[in-house]
Amino acid sequence: MAVKVKYVERPQLTNRERILFIDFIKGMGITIKNFFRKTITTAYPFEKLTPPIRFRGTHAHRVKDGKEPPSFKVLERFMDIQEGESRCVGCYMCQQACPVPELFNIQTTQTEDGKKKVIRFDMNLLNCMYCGLCTEACPVDCLIMTDIYETASYHRAGTVIHMEDMTKRAVDFDTRRGNEPDRIWIDDEQRSKLWGQIKWS
Ligand code: SF4
Ligand code: SF4
Repeated sequence: MAVKVKYVERPQLTNRERILFIDFIKGMGITIKNFFRKTITTAYPFEKLTPPIRFRGTHAHRVKDGKEPPSFKVLERFMDIQEGESRCVGCYMCQQACPVPELFNIQTTQTEDGKKKVIRFDMNLLNCMYCGLCTEACPVDCLIMTDIYETASYHRAGTVIHMEDMTKRAVDFDTRRGNEPDRIWIDDEQRSKLWGQIKWS
């Protein structure tokens, strides 16, 4: 079936509008008004914002440090995980939850005493959409997302992250931001600097 296209005639300027540049003056008025408004953008990379603690940045692995949830206490009996090592139990729940499961490369092995050990945990962040589903699925609060957002690399291999780096990143993240309240907003000082004081009703 042919699609009917309805043409709308372009409005013509009146003589008064042509002579007095009315539309031009209206446009300049908006430009001048915005020129004096507070800038809400930042001059990245010279000026960098600290994202909120719930920001979905590069992934990290929390380590076995005595602060694990009760679920880990149950599972660790079957695992070979030393203090300071990733607390990943190799359950593959993160991979199952991920819309792009191919980006994970998780490998486990069985030790001589019959315990399970995660020997590889790679993530190809080129394929990641930073949805956070994987972190929600992790039963032992191991896989988290951090405030690190500068992930550019000159090589594709540079975008693949490995378990060793992920554990260091989680320790760094928790040290820097672990005491902050869990919120989706940036800190109050930055918020005020950018948008002024917000009056909550
Ligand atoms: S953030 Fe989303 S796309 Fe990225 S690894 Fe996790 S689940 Fe997959
Ligand atoms: S869901 Fe958590 S514990 Fe399970 S494999 Fe992924 S990171 Fe490891």
